[in-house]
Amino acid sequence: MNVWAVAILVALLLELSLGLAADWLNLRALTSTVPAELRDLYDPERYRRAQAYARARTRFGIVTSVVDLALLLGFWFAGGFDGLDQAVRALELGPVATGLIFFAALGLAHQLLRLPVRWWSTFVIEARFGFNRTSPRTFWADAAKGALLAALVGAPLLAAILWIFDRAGSHAWLYCWGASTLFLVGLQYVGPTWIMPLFNRFEPLAEGELKEAILAYARAVRFPVEGVFLVDGSRRSTKGNAFFTGFGRSRRIALFDTLVKQLGTRELVAVLAHEIGHAKRRHVVQGMGLAIAELGAVFFLLSLALESRGLFAAFFVAEPSLHAGLVLFGLALTPVELTLSIGLHALSRKHEREADEFAAQTTGSGEPLVSGLRRLSAESLSNLTPHPFYVLLHYSHPPLADRVRALARWTEATVTGAEGSTVAATDESRGAPAR
Ligand SMILES: [Zn+2]
Repeated sequence: MNVWAVAILVALLLELSLGLAADWLNLRALTSTVPAELRDLYDPERYRRAQAYARARTRFGIVTSVVDLALLLGFWFAGGFDGLDQAVRALELGPVATGLIFFAALGLAHQLLRLPVRWWSTFVIEARFGFNRTSPRTFWADAAKGALLAALVGAPLLAAILWIFDRAGSHAWLYCWGASTLFLVGLQYVGPTWIMPLFNRFEPLAEGELKEAILAYARAVRFPVEGVFLVDGSRRSTKGNAFFTGFGRSRRIALFDTLVKQLGTRELVAVLAHEIGHAKRRHVVQGMGLAIAELGAVFFLLSLALESRGLFAAFFVAEPSLHAGLVLFGLALTPVELTLSIGLHALSRKHEREADEFAAQTTGSGEPLVSGLRRLSAESLSNLTPHPFYVLLHYSHPPLADRVRALARWTEATVTGAEGSTVAATDESRGAPAR
């Protein structure tokens, strides 16, 4: 065991213990008192159900994270990385083909191990609490489509990275950064038009009060929309969602049919206002910028790590190679990723608060969004008392109580400070926070 091995092992164990500590605290927090503003969300029977749901999910998470790490350590210390490497090398193909087969083998094994986890989560846990609408047929079709998509989309990118590192010398990391940035941006265009329709049906929303209300709001905040679509989310789950896709004038709003069923028009417009807030406050662009910066840092560090024989020795890999280096470096990144993800989650929660604020300001009140969020949370049996440490590690959105409290404050501010400002004016005047 060299320095690399010790550092990676410590990081993996630390990550697991932090996760388990958060789970344990979260389970204990289930017994604490419900925040005042949410006390009427559930009746006692349904509250017990919500707690049982949180317990079931947390316990399942504990089991899977322990098993995951045990499997990884087993593979590592049984010399699995070297064994696979030797087997693939024996085929005597070029560096790109060898690398692709090495990745395909690991990726396939990983996906096969995830299948029982996803099956249990869908057909046992989600089903027990009445959320599951996925048929076994849809489940298998999703798995097959996902694997095919990973091969079609991932293989060319990986091949490009392997080829560049094989040929381009010391500047390879720069070219790889460029290539993967192009890839990431391209995916934003291809995703909504080609990939999402593979998994769901998008139908234009029927003419009527809801569509008119949505388009009127979009016009008022000067958010150009090409169309409003209904997505058949109900074929997988009863849980609702809303999002928009595309850029500029070709932006489309997509509403899950489950959401339309659960909310009234005012609440739906408020939920959409929140989504539009993400675009108006430039969260989408910021997220993209961060992801691109992260890619650059990762490729630069990778180019340094590949020089170190210690990394390969740590995983008992006899012959250093680019493909093995990529995988091992991914594992070595664990502590960086853990720290980064805490920061990114905090940023995401800040963005969610800003999108809520945007919705409250542009719809004139936080009340419809509060009502929508409450209804969605009640439907999805959401946990009303998550532990702050659990929130810190895992929550991309602030807990419901925090959001309701903040929205209530903005509602008061709008009422007391009302000057009859129009929706668009509110947006423009608040549209340029120091960024
Ligand atoms: Zn959001």
